[in-house]
Amino acid sequence: MKSIFTVVLAIFSLSMMAQVNDMTTSLYDSYSKYKEPSLDKRRIKHEDIQPLILKLKSNPAYTVQKVGESIKGKNISLISIGTGDINVFLWSQMHGDEPTATQAIFDIFNFLNSDDFTAEKKELLSKLTLHFMPMLNPDGAEVFTRRNALGIDINRDALMLQSPEGQILKRMRDSLDADFGFNLHDQSTYYNAERTPKPATISYLAPAYNYEKDINDVRGNAMKVIVFMNSIIQKYAPGQVGLYNDDFEPRAFGDNIQKWGTSAILIESGGYKNDVEKQEIRKLNFVSILSACYTIANGDYKNIPIEDYEKIPQNDRKLFDLKIERFTHNLLGKDYILDIGINHLEVQDKNYDTFYNVGSIVEKGDLSTFYGYETVDATGYRLIEGKVYPETVQTMKDLEAMDIYGLLKSGYTYVRLAQFSSKDKDVSVPINILDKDQKVPGFYVNIGNTPNFVLQKDGSVDYAVVNGFLIDLKTEESNFKNAIFYGK
Ligand SMILES: [Zn+2]
Repeated sequence: MKSIFTVVLAIFSLSMMAQVNDMTTSLYDSYSKYKEPSLDKRRIKHEDIQPLILKLKSNPAYTVQKVGESIKGKNISLISIGTGDINVFLWSQMHGDEPTATQAIFDIFNFLNSDDFTAEKKELLSKLTLHFMPMLNPDGAEVFTRRNALGIDINRDALMLQSPEGQILKRMRDSLDADFGFNLHDQSTYYNAERTPKPATISYLAPAYNYEKDINDVRGNAMKVIVFMNSIIQKYAPGQVGLYNDDFEPRAFGDNIQKWGTSAILIESGGYKNDVEKQEIRKLNFVSILSACYTIANGDYKNIPIEDYEKIPQNDRKLFDLKIERFTHNLLGKDYILDIGINHLEVQDKNYDTFYNVGSIVEKGDLSTFYGYETVDATGYRLIEGKVYPETVQTMKDLEAMDIYGLLKSGYTYVRLAQFSSKDKDVSVPINILDKDQKVPGFYVNIGNTPNFVLQKDGSVDYAVVNGFLIDLKTEESNFKNAIFYGK
């Protein structure tokens, strides 16, 4: 009798699952209608989201409350919608430089305010009450940095509660006593799904609440919802989901919130090829969070086997922006076969609105267990350090009129300019610029240095690497962003 009931339940839950799947497909396909256009770059600030929150305040469907202030006096708001008995609490950007979910939250508001999916939204908001707390660390966001104005990591302050931001999070957790809590972060773009070259575009974690990593109902429910979200995201970013490390961290909020009785779910937004501003990842956040809300609302997730959680691949950190494999490098008259890993670091402008890239060699040697967003098999190629073009070029305009790819093919990755007055260090043409009297710095291809070199085979230079960006000189294709001005 029991088994028949289980089968019936399983069929029922499968059909429910199919409905939610259709729903998420439509959400993914129609996403552009809901994307909040004013938040289109990662560097967003408190002032950018205030007008959007103000608009919600005048909408009777929402309750908007000021729940506290950051150290520097910026308002932190809690925005609630829905009439259901199940409370879901979502907070984002406790690390100031992790804005992807904040953007997705405002997309979700646009979705909720639209005239689409009315029946589904009615069901959702009758079962759930959603409480959003976007940008918990506005002082960090102001300067695009992880920590708050006190210089501490709010996510290590769950016990001491010295930061006002941490106090707000604790107070809201306790007063809402929510059934589910979504702890929304960004992770390094260099995480991959273990033993694959695929980036961990989204990572999930149901944090442990003790060192033993026990699973009670609170943590188990978080695991089940994660299995559901993973099944949805796999459709749009196959193989690009990882499980975040579940070692117990007694000082972290996620771990404690699990302990305090709210099923805590960590979502980390990682990397995605050619998505520097993480807008595709933001879309996946939108789909992931809403699909979680649907499965929580209809109770579907309860039938998901907990064992499926462990089947999601682990996160690993084995990616580079650019990996060059098996090139030949000569040192003191002898040849060596090496790999090299290069990342594009970001240097911010003084207002923390924009950035330029500086390439950096981060690893060298046998990198056969690592992967690249871009990879070159340089077997048979010789790595030759970039040279300085012997004639001084007068102006930027003169340089732009020159055949820059021709210079690269001749092994030059630096040009001296007589007149260059940029206040910035970034250069828009794919060759580095030196002041006219400047001594050539040591550019040895080694860890910590900026990679500027060419790859040559049978007398032909087929690739240049300028400030860490690969340029295919046969096709002239590259994702080059900027070279560097080495001067005052
Ligand atoms: Zn974080």
